[in-house]
Amino acid sequence: MESHVLQIDFLGSGSSGNATVIRYEQTCILYDCGFSGRELKRRLENTAIGLDDITAVLLTHEHRDHIGGLPLLARRESLPVYLTEPTNVAVRFGSRATCQRIFIQAGQTFRIEQIEILPFEIAHDARQPVGYVLSFPDGTRLGIATDLGHANPEALEALDGCNLIGLEANHDPDLLKNGPYPWFLKQRIRSNKGHLSNPAAADLLSEVAGDGLQHIFGLHLSETNNRPALAKKALVDQVSKLGLTTQVSVISQNEPLSYAAPGQMALL
Ligand SMILES: [Zn+2]
Ligand SMILES: [Zn+2]
Repeated sequence: MESHVLQIDFLGSGSSGNATVIRYEQTCILYDCGFSGRELKRRLENTAIGLDDITAVLLTHEHRDHIGGLPLLARRESLPVYLTEPTNVAVRFGSRATCQRIFIQAGQTFRIEQIEILPFEIAHDARQPVGYVLSFPDGTRLGIATDLGHANPEALEALDGCNLIGLEANHDPDLLKNGPYPWFLKQRIRSNKGHLSNPAAADLLSEVAGDGLQHIFGLHLSETNNRPALAKKALVDQVSKLGLTTQVSVISQNEPLSYAAPGQMALL
């Protein structure tokens, strides 16, 4: 029986950079690339992945903490980069770009090799941001949703019943309220197109979590307005309230996490 064919490497997540490598057999997908080229390369090397190993790049939106490494990646000839058309208008690929740009639309699935991918709309102050659900041949579904001001119906529907969920737990409402950010920035983060708080992430979880949810990964934690322990507690408390056995991890800006999925073979 095959196991551990799905490997997820969270290279780091937070307000200053987000990138995740998702490997399934020979396919290696980079989900956002929000570190500088040099930093991205360094973080990839730490997980023994070279730039040439990457099969395709999925982009969620144009904010710098999601696309910083794009000019480096875009130099690779014909590398497929998936993004929405409005995102493309706002993104810098750099003058040496030779990659392919493939425009996707929320709600329309596409495939990268064996993996079926569903982009879904998220509520965020970018041109046309999306999250993605990846469905693997062994039945595992991985959904990632960061940079969302609230749980919009499209996100809830897409994440419903996923086995693995990467979910934004951006801030603790009290730390944000009493923290050093200027008022306008606090308002932006709190708005329904801003970022998901720890309790809002826990609420979202209660709507989408099912018996098949194996692991939840807290993402995009603010270094100023959150603490890993607070984000984790919010998610762990919700998991136990729901009576589930789901594991919870949180990923910080400078603490990458590698996860090997146990696979769904036993459930088929
Ligand atoms: Zn953003
Ligand atoms: Zn972001």
